[in-house]
Amino acid sequence: MAGSRRAVFVCCDGLGRDWVRPETTPFLAELRGTSLWCGEHSAVFPSVTRVSAASISTGCLPARHGLHGNRMGLREDGRIVVRDVGAPDFRSHMRRATGGTLLVPSIAERVAEAGGFIAYSNVSPGAAYFLDPEHFGHIHHRAGSFAPGGESIGALEVTHDSAGDWTMTRRFCAEVLLDTKPAVAFLWICDPDHTLHAVPLGSPAHLDVLQQADRCVAEVHRTVERLRGEGEEILLLVGSDHGHETIGDGIDVGDWLAAHGLKELLATGDVAVAGQGTSALFYATDRGRDGLLGVIEEMRRAPWAADVLIGADLAAKGLTADGVVAAVDTARQVEANPHGVPGRRWMVKEGKAVPIGCGQHGGLGPDETRPFLMIDDGRSSGALQQATSLTDIAPTIARFLGLPLTGFDGSPLPPS
Ligand SMILES: [Zn+2]
Repeated sequence: MAGSRRAVFVCCDGLGRDWVRPETTPFLAELRGTSLWCGEHSAVFPSVTRVSAASISTGCLPARHGLHGNRMGLREDGRIVVRDVGAPDFRSHMRRATGGTLLVPSIAERVAEAGGFIAYSNVSPGAAYFLDPEHFGHIHHRAGSFAPGGESIGALEVTHDSAGDWTMTRRFCAEVLLDTKPAVAFLWICDPDHTLHAVPLGSPAHLDVLQQADRCVAEVHRTVERLRGEGEEILLLVGSDHGHETIGDGIDVGDWLAAHGLKELLATGDVAVAGQGTSALFYATDRGRDGLLGVIEEMRRAPWAADVLIGADLAAKGLTADGVVAAVDTARQVEANPHGVPGRRWMVKEGKAVPIGCGQHGGLGPDETRPFLMIDDGRSSGALQQATSLTDIAPTIARFLGLPLTGFDGSPLPPS
């Protein structure tokens, strides 16, 4: 495929835009100066990794691609069952309930006959596999790698930390960028997200993994520049999926609903909650809908709720999915953490305890909804001061490769 155009996307999971600074990420700050910086780039809702992966790979919002959250409700035998998207059997449950997985083509499908797709991902298996859930391309991951058609090709042997990110990055540069040369290549590193879930924002451990992520991007850029020097036309996109917020007190939203008269509807599966960290999605059957809508006003007054979205407000956030009746974004207090980072959020409890003071995401808070994106196409530079989204990444790649631009919610960048 030498001589043809190709696109590379690097995702630094959980790296909020405000952390791209000369003192925290020196290489990214430098690259910003020679790339097109998307100054108003935003996450999708909920701002969780699996939904972000699906939106990046399809160029569509959750309402259209069909993956609602890290956990989502499926209609099974007339009731709503909330399932973890990361579970190994989730895709079979989703196929049984909805007839498929993603409802629109991924970029892997779009380039299956036009140069191919390869992703190396060091995040959760669910987020890795939802880049290409029907196996049109290659996905390499610790939990198992797959070739087109779903043939198992052995696991990616890297550790789930920034050392593993670095090993994976070097392999990606050697095996994918320099050797296989697919039309589209994704590298998705786990840090800073993985570390931030266990340490405070702005802590030395957070700052350390920012530098580690920065080094991975520098290595990819160095390789891309080498290939450009050999005459290759490569579009390099570097970004993240979401930022992080600080974990405060927890709220069991299911218990709250039960205490407000919905105990029976919860038990019969007519109402269900799918927690997403700093937000939650509420599902209802026709039988449960009125009961759920009946407690929304009271929920709005609860100390843990910032905003409860229903109807047109929910649709405006990209979630008009089957069964999703409402969503809550949890409340935020402005106080700063010990490292001077403001904001403390209520956390939706999902069984296991989460460490107060560490990072989390999923809602509509200021840091979690501000990922970064820069476009290094050898031509564009400066800052783009217009709203852009994770859904613009796939159409940007498609336009560069000369593929059809139909069926995206997003638009190619920069706008033509
Ligand atoms: Zn993420």
